[in-house]
Amino acid sequence: MWNSRAHNLLNLMTADTTLLTPNRRLAATLLSEFNQLQMSQGKTSWQTPPILPLPSWLQQLWNEWTAKEITETALLLSPNQKSILWETVIRQSPLSDALLQISETAKLAGAAYELLQLWEVHIDDPIFSATEDSQAFQEWAKQFKKICRKNNWIDDSQLASILEKNVASKKIKSPEKIILAGFTEIVPQHLRLLHAFEQSGTELIHYHNHVSAPFAKKINLVNEETEIETMARWAKATYEAAPNKKPYLIGCVVPKLETLRESVLRIFSDVFSENNTFTLDHTSLPFNISAGKNLLSFPIVKTAIELLKLGKNNIDLTVISQILKSPFLGEAEKERVKRSHFENRLKRENITSLSMKKLISHHSSCSYFVKRIQQYLDYFSQLKKTYSMSEWMTHFVELLTLLGWPGERSLNSQEYQITQRWLDLLLECNSLDTVLEPQRFTQAIEWLTRLSAKTIFQPQSPEAPIQILGVLEAIELPFEKIWVMGLDDTNWPAAPRPNPFIPTSLQKMLNMPHATSERELIYCEQLIKQLKQSTQHIIFSYPEKNEEVRLRPSVLLNDIELTSLAELSLSDFVSPAQKIFATHQLDYFTDEMAPPIQTSENILGGTHIFKQQAACPFKAFSELRLHARSIETPTIGLRAIDRGNIVHTALELIWKTIQHSTTLLTLPENELRKIIRTCSEQAIASMIDSSQQRYFSLELERLEKILFDWLTLESERPGFKIAFQEHEINTTIGPIPITFRIDRIDELQDGTWLIIDYKTGKNNKIKNWFGERPDEPQLPLYCLVSGENIAGIAFGKIHPDEMTLEGISRDNMNIKSIKTISEWKNQLHEWKVTLEKLGDDFLNGIAHVDPKEINTTCNHCHLHTFCRIHEK
Ligand code: SF4
Repeated sequence: MWNSRAHNLLNLMTADTTLLTPNRRLAATLLSEFNQLQMSQGKTSWQTPPILPLPSWLQQLWNEWTAKEITETALLLSPNQKSILWETVIRQSPLSDALLQISETAKLAGAAYELLQLWEVHIDDPIFSATEDSQAFQEWAKQFKKICRKNNWIDDSQLASILEKNVASKKIKSPEKIILAGFTEIVPQHLRLLHAFEQSGTELIHYHNHVSAPFAKKINLVNEETEIETMARWAKATYEAAPNKKPYLIGCVVPKLETLRESVLRIFSDVFSENNTFTLDHTSLPFNISAGKNLLSFPIVKTAIELLKLGKNNIDLTVISQILKSPFLGEAEKERVKRSHFENRLKRENITSLSMKKLISHHSSCSYFVKRIQQYLDYFSQLKKTYSMSEWMTHFVELLTLLGWPGERSLNSQEYQITQRWLDLLLECNSLDTVLEPQRFTQAIEWLTRLSAKTIFQPQSPEAPIQILGVLEAIELPFEKIWVMGLDDTNWPAAPRPNPFIPTSLQKMLNMPHATSERELIYCEQLIKQLKQSTQHIIFSYPEKNEEVRLRPSVLLNDIELTSLAELSLSDFVSPAQKIFATHQLDYFTDEMAPPIQTSENILGGTHIFKQQAACPFKAFSELRLHARSIETPTIGLRAIDRGNIVHTALELIWKTIQHSTTLLTLPENELRKIIRTCSEQAIASMIDSSQQRYFSLELERLEKILFDWLTLESERPGFKIAFQEHEINTTIGPIPITFRIDRIDELQDGTWLIIDYKTGKNNKIKNWFGERPDEPQLPLYCLVSGENIAGIAFGKIHPDEMTLEGISRDNMNIKSIKTISEWKNQLHEWKVTLEKLGDDFLNGIAHVDPKEINTTCNHCHLHTFCRIHEK
């Protein structure tokens, strides 16, 4: 049917006819139809007719004309040159100080200027004094014009006006016919040019289909997701039933395709995937989605830009992590494991940012990585401060080559196309020398990033029978069947969106796009009419709900009959997740025993073994034998563990100086404070770079207060002297080698020892030493191996909310918070039995998923997905 309509249209063409369309897609389709027609007539060669979108035609006329008129040397700005010029104008304006988003403002101002050109409004019009915004815009537009005039530049929104004058003066040849196919509207400036051609003898034909779809129905669906899924199922059933799987068989029209692209692609891929398979490469499926994505959203381009920025002084660890994991860097495959270990090490060390120089001096075993970064830095250090954009592009390519971008593995077809397009963009950037002064490195990168984000790219895919596309692209295309989704009352017509830089009254008066709701309504009505005339079978759908908001059908669907799911032919659909679930056959196999530990197995962990085995046997097995460790997330500033270490170090230094409780008691307060300050400074300096002055002094202030309070508490105890600090003992419990590091051992007046374990966190209770599964077995273990001289153990709780020495003792120590227990020997025996059992269980491979307290033990554990406690 469409073929005959297309043939009617193409038959109107003579040897000197230009056929214009509103978009590239319709032009390409008509050209392909023209070629088919020639072949069906037995021709083997023919001249390609001028069938092209109107903007390309204007550009072509300009190129032909300037090629002839050698005196005419005006430069036609490219879209990128134009947007950069707008941004420069706004940036240099005194009004820019008040603007937060200059590039967004430049975009809107550029669009406003284009509208005014196309609607032939003079920028000097007094109406622009109406608002502050329009006044500001008027200033920018005058400046933009002034720069263009001075440099003899023009932009594409002026083309039609310039060409019109030359048509009128016969400097541009008029074709015999111009056919306009598929236009919904034509702007005044273009109409004037077309009129000029008409005046010069050209026959002007406005071509529209006038066939109403015999089948036009509407359907309501629960929500947007269901709408997409139903449309996909309908497209699949229609495709499968069609005898001829020709291109442009089915059109799926999505008005908000740019925002919905990812959901549409996912749902169509699910619906069209074969029974039990799912493909990530949708080019093998019979549909094609028209919306592209910006270049910066593709990882291969994003990585290239991040790589170029490596010369900056400080690189965020998230970026370094991405680069270390990226396949788009030299030797990424070869060094994958080493780079991953290196990344984890940086995270463990709580490094949040660092320079590349520091990174490569960080004893990395990734020799290829280090070599490439070194090459980059060597080249980078030779660069001057500023270059023209074209020079920067040459340096950028060189830097990327040194880094081995885009990696050692072969690129797939999509990655290859993206890379080529981005390299073309780098070439296009050469032309920016016209509008940009020499730039600094960061400026050049910034421009490249922005242009990459602006450049929409869609990898090529074979012509497909099912096309998913936006409304404007779908008009007049040769579909046999069309489904248009998303036509609810809030979207169709959409709310007006007048340009903020043009006075609203002017936009209303000239009936500019998106100016008023009346205009939007008429425009959408026209689109619906054209869609209905494009095919014989059309379905319109709308969602009933958007989250909690109830929606109604667009008023423009009022005269269309309602249909139901039962009336439509839909393919069956079971989501991949449901498919997998439906085929499940579970085998249950309980395996809670790991192999017993062999003498050859090197077991590290020390007291941790008992602690983990008591907390959860599976945790002990996973962490200590399988080495399933969590990946740390670095945080800015000190972590709780760092603060704890600082307190430990400061106290060690203080007691090294004071040694004895009598010294503490006799020291004047100012002397004590001096010691605290010196030791605190030393302890903090081991963790915080002294260049972070403000942070350093805040931490110092906090630490000094805590330590003074702690030492005040210690001064109230009966006399003691420091016997050991950070005391290390190596021993074995059965075959398990243990290394202890005891924070502090005090020798009391009677010569016995009190062991102190500093705790800077909250919730450390002495009950954690008791029971069959003790949370803190370190001090009980130490009591077992250290013999008779131990008379007590205590937590030294050093926290602003809880400052105390809390523990148990064999004899009365005259410290209120240390309780004497009468059955000390029995307690030692109990600990012996408990700890030996835990040690034996670990050695024998007992690895049950059995947390001591599911709500607390599991909350502090990172192994949920491994042990599947939640499934249990
Ligand atoms: S999440 Fe709970 S059950 Fe799982 S290993 Fe950790 S502590 Fe054990």
